[in-house]
Parts: sequence; structure tokens; C-alpha cells
Amino acid sequence: MNNILVVNCGSSSLKYQLINMDNESVIAKGLVERIGIDGSNITQKVPGKPDYKIETPMKDHVDAANHMFKALTDPTNGVIKSLDEISAIGHRVLHGGIKLTESVLVDQHVKDVIKECFDLGPLHNPANLMGIEACEKNAPGKKNVAVFDTTFGMGMEEKAYLYAIPYEYYEKYSIRRYGFHGTSHMFVSRETIKFGNLKPDAKVIVCHLGNGASVSASIGGKCVDTSMGLTPLEGLVMGTRSGDVDPAVLQFICNKEKKDINEVLNILNKKSGLLGLSGISSDCRDVESAYDKGDKGAKRAFDVMTYRIEKYIGAYMVALGGCDAISFTAGIGENDKGIRETICNQLSFLGVKLDKERNNIRGEARLISADDSSIKVFLMPTNEELMIARETLRLTK
Ligand code: AMP
Repeated sequence: MNNILVVNCGSSSLKYQLINMDNESVIAKGLVERIGIDGSNITQKVPGKPDYKIETPMKDHVDAANHMFKALTDPTNGVIKSLDEISAIGHRVLHGGIKLTESVLVDQHVKDVIKECFDLGPLHNPANLMGIEACEKNAPGKKNVAVFDTTFGMGMEEKAYLYAIPYEYYEKYSIRRYGFHGTSHMFVSRETIKFGNLKPDAKVIVCHLGNGASVSASIGGKCVDTSMGLTPLEGLVMGTRSGDVDPAVLQFICNKEKKDINEVLNILNKKSGLLGLSGISSDCRDVESAYDKGDKGAKRAFDVMTYRIEKYIGAYMVALGGCDAISFTAGIGENDKGIRETICNQLSFLGVKLDKERNNIRGEARLISADDSSIKVFLMPTNEELMIARETLRLTK
């Protein structure tokens, strides 16, 4: 028995995957939605079986976890006979602050620190902790491991993680750059080295381009820099997030629009990015199809987004003192050959050369640069669940 259960809790949802670590295959995956509200339901997908879907009231995450374990052990639709066939549970946790810098076996201290970090991850950390406690209640004695989205960014040196604001704010409140999508960057940077047969200390830039987006620079899988900051708002232009702005913009909008700081931050998080610039949609596909029809707002949004990515890649090449490989991942990175081409064309003066035919692919690990490209370019699908399962196995073996 070598099955790891991976759990990712949101405020009203619980996503899970049961992974057989002998061959890293997914045995079952499921989603519990609308926890604590009308219409709670669970859907479980098992390869080769019809979907299992039940709608039943679930008042909290403990109820949700109970239904997850019931679905997994269901005599007809389940995949295991009892919970004994789960060796450990890995949890995605957003923020570990400066105290939890690595994946860790959960104990009371770990739960206390996750709670201390509610301020830093107000939308996610409370739900992540509820998920851990729900599993502890439903599967007593099972080992739980917390894998933090911030772990990868904790590899940054001080010069990369400090903001140039009075140092006392770092000392008092741990205000620094943490970086997010860390589990994805960790997975993709390591897989790029493995898949590409690169030297162990290869310099890799990963472009995680999804609804949320970030770039990272790493050496041998260790983070040198990453574009998100104290929160996921910093960095690239995203579906609805602005990415980098002059902080004075906030005050300016507050004064002009008679709004308070929370309202403006909400605008920067939820109404900016592709959506704000295009006025069309936060979804890259919608923006691109409008672009193809000649829509000016769509062109504007697309241009600002790709220019920002190109700028970050350039900066990170300097931060790394070179670059062996660039990998594209997540919804846009894995599916959108046009964006990969636009970005790589801008890097052509460095000798980066995409191979059009190789680039004509979606969602599959592949070298997409030409043989004579100065830097290898890959499409590398991300798999955060597998990374969490690997970390969980490593800590519980
Ligand atoms: P994620 O957050 O990783 O799920 O990525 C979501 C983003 O991927 C959205 O902006 C989608 O529009 C984008 N996306 C998904 N499929 C495609 C596609 N075929 N072409 C372009 N963008 C895509």
C-alpha cells in the first residue's frame, strides 16, 4: 500500500486526489463544493468508472471530509476497501510565514503557526487548517503533511525577498516577498531538469501563466527570485490582478474616486489585469478571440501582459547570470502556442528560437525550441498534487 491522499481546501470547497505512489498514477479525484451552503455536493471521478455524484447537506469541512472518505471507500464506486489503504495525507497550505519554510508533518505547533499566518493568507489559510482538522477527525492517527505554497520562495536570498521599506516592518510583521505558486514552480523547475536531461544545477526560468500568473528563476530547482510578493498581487498581469503598480496609484484612485484602500485593493485584485485592460474578460481565450477580430482593448491587454512577461524573463536571466531553459506551464502556458511564440520572438536577439512545429502542442511535456536555440524552451505541464504527494511520501516514508 503506497497511496497518498492529497487535499486542497478552499473556503467552501475541498478538492482531493488519491495517488498510487508506486507508479504516480491518480486512482481517484474528487471535488466537494458548496460546503456550508445550499446545494452541497460531491463528485468523484475514477478512471474507467462512471462519475459518482451525491448532493447532500454538508455543514462544514468535517462533513465534507467524511463524504470524501465515504466516496473513496464506497463498495460500488469507491477505490479502496478501508482507510488503511491510505498511507498518509498531504495538504496544500497557502502560507507558512517565516516559521514554516519547508513541507512538514503536522503537529500542534504547525497548526498554531498556520493560524498565526491567517493575516498573511486570509482567504486560504483558515480553509487549509479546517481541511487538516477535518482529516484528523475523520481519519484519526493518519499522518498529515502540510506543503506550503510559500516554501519555494523561501529559498530567495535577502536581497531578493526584502522590500526597501523601513526594516522594522520586516522585523515586526515579517513583511517580505514570499512568492506563490511555489509548489508549481518547484515541480516544473525540477521536472524541466529531469525531462530535459539538464545538469543538476541548471538555471531555469518557469513561466506559470494561468488565471493567476508568476515567473520564477531557479538554480538546480532552488528559487533565486519569483514574481509574486507578500501577496499574489505583485508581478505579472493576471486574469483580474494588476501585478506591479506604483503604490501611489492606490492613493490617487482613493482620492479621485472617494474610495477607501480596501475598495481599491479589491479593484487591483478582482477588476484589473486582462479584465480591467480589455473590458472584455479575465479569460485569455475570450481576450484573444476579441483580439483576432480587431478589438483594441483586447490588443492593449494582450500587449501589456506579454510585455510584462518578457521584461521579467530578461530581468531573471540577469539575476541568474544566464539561463539554460525556459518552461511554460499552467492554463495559458500549456495551451496557448501564440503567447509562447510572441514571448520567444522577443527573446530572439538572445538566440532563443522556437520550433513552430514542436510548439504546435497542448498540455504535453515537450522541447519546443529549435535544435540551434541558445536556450532550451519547454512546455512542461504542472502537477501540484503530485508534488504534494511526493513531499508527503518523503516525510512519512
Ligand atoms: P489556470 O488558472 O491554470 O487554470 O488557467 C486559466 C487560464 O488558461 C485562462 O485564462 C484560460 O483562458 C487559459 N486557457 C485555457 N485553455 C486555453 C487555450 N486553449 N488557449 C488559451 N488560453 C487558454
